[in-house]
Amino acid sequence: MEQAIMRPALFLFSVLVTGLYPQDEDTFAKRRADMVRQQIEQRGVRDQATLDALKTVPRHRFVPADQVEYAYEDRPLPIGYGQTISQPYIVAFMTEVVQPEDDFKVLEIGTGSGYQAAVLAEIVQQVYSVEIVEELHDRASTLFEDLGYSNITSTSADGYFGWEEHAPYDAIIVTAAPEYIPPPLISQLKENGKMIIPVGSPFRVQNLMLVEKKDGKIRTKTLFPVMFVPFTKGH
Ligand code: SAH
Repeated sequence: MEQAIMRPALFLFSVLVTGLYPQDEDTFAKRRADMVRQQIEQRGVRDQATLDALKTVPRHRFVPADQVEYAYEDRPLPIGYGQTISQPYIVAFMTEVVQPEDDFKVLEIGTGSGYQAAVLAEIVQQVYSVEIVEELHDRASTLFEDLGYSNITSTSADGYFGWEEHAPYDAIIVTAAPEYIPPPLISQLKENGKMIIPVGSPFRVQNLMLVEKKDGKIRTKTLFPVMFVPFTKGH
């Protein structure tokens, strides 16, 4: 009899506790593991370092407070200033396709929330990231510091010109879509380096392109259609 009373009481207690604290770190870690399994591994991403990075980076810290509950859903989310944090699968795909190694120096154009940079920073030695919207740069660089990503260096500038000072790069990831590949990015890519970049007209479907530099020559491969925010002209 006593037990019959205890059970509903315990049940109610646990509902109250989970209802009050639905967003603890364990819950987020579980959502992250589900995200990687269902959205990323099942779609064919196999690179272990990429999968581990997506399992580790707290994506909910990179979205605005009113988006936290959607942080592990299968879609991009608004981050303010008309910009978005990319869908997790796209981040994973773009990371895997440049075949990041631990001794790599990687350039990212379009820091945005900072999430893609953090995923890269889990894998490679050094990430340089350029963002044209100063407020987004400021927010991301504070977050990198808070989360201890000391191997990310970021700046507010027009990414059309890459970041000459630290060039050449083993890999370049561009997360906004220009109408053509900016020539400075090609020249800042190392021999045998890979660049992944969405190319196309603003607000239309663009193509994700893989650019490789071999024997000083450029080879491009069109991968699949995507939709990214436009590459802003600051130049
Ligand atoms: N990688 C980001 C995605 C952000 S969306 C993330 O993980 O959240 C793309 C970003 O590119 C936007 O923040 C936008 O402001 C920035 N951007 C657009 N044009 C740019 C340019 N010319 N130079 C640098 N950043 C640019």
